[in-house]
Amino acid sequence: MQAPKLIYYLLLGSNMNDPAGQLKLALQHIAALPELQVLKISSLQRTKPYGKTDQDDFFNQVLKLQSPLAPEDMLSTLLNIEKQMGRQRGQKWGPRIIDLDILLIQDMMIETEKLIVPHYDLHNRLFVLELLTEIAPDAMHPKLNKTISELRQELMSSAGGNT
Ligand code: ATP
Ligand code: CA
Ligand code: CA
Repeated sequence: MQAPKLIYYLLLGSNMNDPAGQLKLALQHIAALPELQVLKISSLQRTKPYGKTDQDDFFNQVLKLQSPLAPEDMLSTLLNIEKQMGRQRGQKWGPRIIDLDILLIQDMMIETEKLIVPHYDLHNRLFVLELLTEIAPDAMHPKLNKTISELRQELMSSAGGNT
């Protein structure tokens, strides 16, 4: 029997060596894998650096994928693409050529040492909620029991929020 397919939402980010070009390249890496099927692609957003401010702006994009891969195999696949693209493990939130994060996997809640889904900080990052709203406004955050567009509204009306 075939493994059931899961719906994944991913966040792509880059702020080095032509970030928009790096996102395009990451998308090519993802699309080239037969086990990953790209269903939707958000626009590109330019974002002020998160957490650590003395670095270039980021470019971010969100993808909807379908895949039979189990969550931990998806994570290894994404970390492997980061590695192939030359990602160096530097400071937390420091400059990076590519960052591939899993935002949501349907209504799954995972909290292991290696993987936290939904992404632990998704609801605090306005750029993530804005991009997700483009392609999945009605997707539920299974832990907070709110839709993506509700979370976006909430963050926008709270004191500034983290962008
Ligand atoms: P942040 O997660 O706050 O955006 P970051 O993306 O800079 O920070 P990284 O250094 O890229 O953090 O990732 C560190 C580790 O986070 C990864 O090696 C992975 O094991 C773990 N991780 C946990 N949950 C996730 C997730 N949902 N998506 C991707 N990686 C995750
Ligand atoms: Ca990240
Ligand atoms: Ca990451």
